[in-house]
Amino acid sequence: MAVSKCNRLNGALIKELLDSVESVLFDCDGVIWRGDQAIAGAPEVINSLKKNGKRVFFVTNNSTKTRKMYADKLAKMGFNATEDEVFGTAYCSAMYLKSVSKLKGKVYLIGSNAMKEELLNVGIEEVGTGPDPITGVQIDWANVPLDPEVKAVVVGFDEHFSYMKLNRALQYLSNPECLLIGTNTDTQLPLEGGKAVPGTGCLLKAVETAAQRKAQVVGKPNHFMFDCVANQYGLDPAETLMVGDRLDTDILLGSNCGLKTLLTLTGVSTLADAKDHQLSGCPDRLGMVPDYFVETIAELLPALQG
Ligand code: PLP
Ligand code: CA
Repeated sequence: MAVSKCNRLNGALIKELLDSVESVLFDCDGVIWRGDQAIAGAPEVINSLKKNGKRVFFVTNNSTKTRKMYADKLAKMGFNATEDEVFGTAYCSAMYLKSVSKLKGKVYLIGSNAMKEELLNVGIEEVGTGPDPITGVQIDWANVPLDPEVKAVVVGFDEHFSYMKLNRALQYLSNPECLLIGTNTDTQLPLEGGKAVPGTGCLLKAVETAAQRKAQVVGKPNHFMFDCVANQYGLDPAETLMVGDRLDTDILLGSNCGLKTLLTLTGVSTLADAKDHQLSGCPDRLGMVPDYFVETIAELLPALQG
């Protein structure tokens, strides 16, 4: 197996790589789907990997869906997948609070109903989801009502993010014992046609800035996302492949955890970005250089069906 990095994966190398791993972790957006559209050939790749005896997992920074919602989305698109194979940041943040923080108390949640549901699934109550009513009454910002049982502020994707929520987060976080947890730091979410919208990283930065605290981030590239899968399924990092479209989340996660890494060019990062990191010679950028790249994961299909 080649030891140099950023190699085009083709020909016999594809089979060689797949034979060398027993599990494959797939990022979702930009790898197996874009928005609501499956990447052409992706369901066949996943289904064939499984037929070939590989274990497949889905690892996404998107906190807006529960495991169940992801399993439904995958099934609709023709992927053979179950909810136990899905590791999204709504689920993983709940696991983090339960197993790492050992939280005894409630969460002030800046996030989605999916996050609320995953928290409740592990027995954690939350306050805060949904829009704040606009009352027209003058607010005493430093004395808003707070729930004394809140012991952590958790920030995920929240389309109802507001000054009121930011202020409440600050009031809770002025207690140094109140934890600050973020699902992920993705700054922009790319849309078709070169457009983008603000990602959770923007909301988290606002809370960090207001509270003058650094959040503990659960999502990729944090080790915890891999640990979550590895602990439940006993994965060996040396026999695991991470496939992603972002160098600073997916590929860095793979490098941080000792996995083999494959960049696919159907999403955010370009080959030029990867080469830039490689040529920089900068030690803290080398983790963002993948072992291999493909134009699309559909290129894996011939090796699986042969
Ligand atoms: N966060 C949100 C809210 C998203 O909508 C997305 C992509 O759709 C992401 C994060 C990135 O997800 P992934 O890690 O699957 O690329
Ligand atoms: Ca992605």
